[in-house]
Amino acid sequence: MQELIRLLEQEGLDGLYLTRPENVRYLSGFSSPEDAQVYVSREGALLLTDGRYTVQAEEESRIPFKILTREERKAFFEGLEGRIGLEAEHLPYARLEELRELAPVEWVPTRGLVERLRIKKTPEEVRLIQKAQALADEAFRRILPLVSPGVKEVELALELEFYLRRHGAEATAFPIIVASGPRGAMPHGVASEKAIQEGEMVTVDFGARYKGYHSDLTRTFGVGRVDPEKKRLFDAVLLVLEEVLAQLAPGKPAKELDALARRVLEKEGLKAYFTHSLGHGVGLAVHEAPGLNAYTEEVLEPGMVVTVEPGVYLPGFAGVRVEELVLVTETGFELLSRLDRGWLEV
Ligand code: ZN
Ligand code: ZN
Repeated sequence: MQELIRLLEQEGLDGLYLTRPENVRYLSGFSSPEDAQVYVSREGALLLTDGRYTVQAEEESRIPFKILTREERKAFFEGLEGRIGLEAEHLPYARLEELRELAPVEWVPTRGLVERLRIKKTPEEVRLIQKAQALADEAFRRILPLVSPGVKEVELALELEFYLRRHGAEATAFPIIVASGPRGAMPHGVASEKAIQEGEMVTVDFGARYKGYHSDLTRTFGVGRVDPEKKRLFDAVLLVLEEVLAQLAPGKPAKELDALARRVLEKEGLKAYFTHSLGHGVGLAVHEAPGLNAYTEEVLEPGMVVTVEPGVYLPGFAGVRVEELVLVTETGFELLSRLDRGWLEV
């Protein structure tokens, strides 16, 4: 919290009104952050919510909280003074107009202030991400015996979700991707009614949310014997992943890893088919800083948790992605998934 108050001083703000759920949860521990905000002043942070959450705020909040009625909320805003920061990337414009009416202060757009604090994980945060990843690993192991020609993508997705929820996940990290055959060419091919067929590759990308923290895992495997032209795509993607992991260490600029991935694919003649960034940070949001892409100035530091997820997508033909989640350590990195990543035919 001291860091946040220092940020206020740096930015010349008298207060900071936080509405982004991940940031509200990060600062307070409150598990219904969509219905709460955090107000930070030089005196500290305060969780603001309403009468539906009195018991929950009492139980969960690590910071002082206020239960506000509509009138009390109005009075709270009327009492503000000076320059108050808001989260420009999250607060809707209509809400800003309301705030301007409520509080005669200077509302100052800010970007990424709390996100900067979230970028390096504490040991407790790492423990929760590890737990979320262990759930995903086990869910994946459980569905492999269910894969056979005729099974629908959505059936596999449901089995994954059921396992995760049954074993303590609050939710899936995002809508589960199961993309088989030509659908594999859609990087975000959410599970459909399509039946999986003999000889197809299947990409499964999913994660769990556990106590607010996420995991993220992708594997691509074959169903029966896969044509060598398709299997070649897998070999190329795996090669990229191995080469990037061999270079992944603290002090490494994220954009160098992204460039390395593209160089390896260029040699394979597949560069044009890698249409997204190499990876992203994972924590209270499933996509957060640091991004592993061509445009970032971010440098890897111990305590960051990032994905490495090269992929190639050939429209009308097939697609492959393999994704690992890693914790950057003092000396290199630690893989958070315990699953094998080699070629697999089921
Ligand atoms: Zn993923
Ligand atoms: Zn990812």
